[in-house]
This record gives sequence, C-alpha cells and structure tokens, in this order.
Amino acid sequence: MINFDVEREKMVRRQLKGRDITNQKVLNAMQAVPREKFVKDGMEDRAYHDSALPIGADQTISQPYVVALTIQALDPGEEDVILDIGTGSGYAAAVAAEIANSVMSVERIESLYNFAKSNLEEAGITNVQLRHGDGSRGWPEHAPYDGIMVAAASSDVPESLKDQLKENGKLVIPVGSGLMGQQLRRYTKHEDGSFTQDNIAGVRFVPLVSGKD
Ligand code: SAH
Repeated sequence: MINFDVEREKMVRRQLKGRDITNQKVLNAMQAVPREKFVKDGMEDRAYHDSALPIGADQTISQPYVVALTIQALDPGEEDVILDIGTGSGYAAAVAAEIANSVMSVERIESLYNFAKSNLEEAGITNVQLRHGDGSRGWPEHAPYDGIMVAAASSDVPESLKDQLKENGKLVIPVGSGLMGQQLRRYTKHEDGSFTQDNIAGVRFVPLVSGKD
C-alpha cells in the first residue's frame, strides 16, 4: 500500500521547495490536495512523480511543479474568484480553490469535463464550478475575475480573457506556438486597461484549441 500523505510531503519538499516555490499558501495547498484522486484509475502509484501523466483524450494532468509555478505567479487571495481555462483532470483548479474563494473552470472536451467532475467530488472539493465549452471565450457570466490561469498555449492572448479580468488582476498563460519555446507569462491589468507582462519560465503545454468537442 502506498502512503499518499508521505508521497505528497516528499513531492512538496523535493519538487517544489527544492526548486523556486516559496509561496507558503501554494505549498500548503499542494500539500492538501490529494493528487492521487486526479489521475486515471490504475496510475495512482505515479501520482506524485515529477511529471505530467496521460488522462485520456490525448491530454495530460500537468506536472506538480508547473501547477505550483502557475498558481504562485497568480498569487490568489482568499476572497478571489479565479477563472481556470483547460480543466483537464481538475487538479490545478482544486489547488487554486484551496487558496481562493472559488474557481470557475472551463474544459472543451466533454469526457474530461466528466472526469474532472467526478475527481473533484471524490476529493470533496465544492468550490469549483465546471463548464463544458470553449475557454478561449472565458466564462462571461461570472466575470470579472481576480485572476485567470490558462493550461493551454496560444500564440496570442485571447482578448476575451483580458476583458474578463478585474483591474489589478493577473492572467497567467503559456504564450507561443508549437511544443517548443513557450513562455509562461503573467499579464497584470492596470486601471487604464493597459497590461504589463513578465516571463515566469519556459514551459511546454498543449495548444489552446478553439471550439468544443
Ligand atoms: N489544468 C489541467 C491541465 C490540463 S491540460 C490539470 O490540472 O489537469 C490542458 C487542457 O486544456 C486539456 O484538457 C485541453 O482539452 C484543454 N483545452 C485546450 N483548449 C481549450 C479551450 N479552448 N477551452 C477549454 N479547454 C481547452
């Protein structure tokens, strides 16, 4: 029998603290969320590996470090409402929801929308709302958001996501086309509607695809 609590503690120590994850809220959230409930049945023994894992429909649950890096860049407050694009397994949404007030998450592939729904239920997480749809359009009904995180790469940042961000809000998104050479970038919105941007790290995400399956 695997002791998942021990595995999770090791993951936080080696993969996160051992690198550049210093935000205590993020470390606590990564320590709290049971990643073994967000991988496919039969892959639980790999849940705390330092890698992405297949979740079906040619998609992956992101590497723990990349999830931590993204949410550290977003730095959600406890009252914040966060928009998450590319639900996948629901894991990143669950980690953000551990810190923020709530997370609205959009996934374009129906089988993954259902996968995430059951994973979140099994993990007992109730402050994530899911939607099956094209996330490049955001989720206007709940806008504006304090923060937006995107788990799929795009060469241009979708305007609707920028529009759905509050003043002083942050958008964290992998920018670039192709599987090589994307930058995880943070855009901060100013009161006059302009943005400043900073690069967080070089990353590799699947592309943001328009439309839904
Ligand atoms: N955050 C996820 C990572 C999933 S990988 C996790 O923690 O497991 C990225 C996901 O983005 C895939 O599931 C893919 O189907 C989805 N995706 C790609 N383009 C999208 C779009 N336009 N709208 C919504 N989801 C999209």
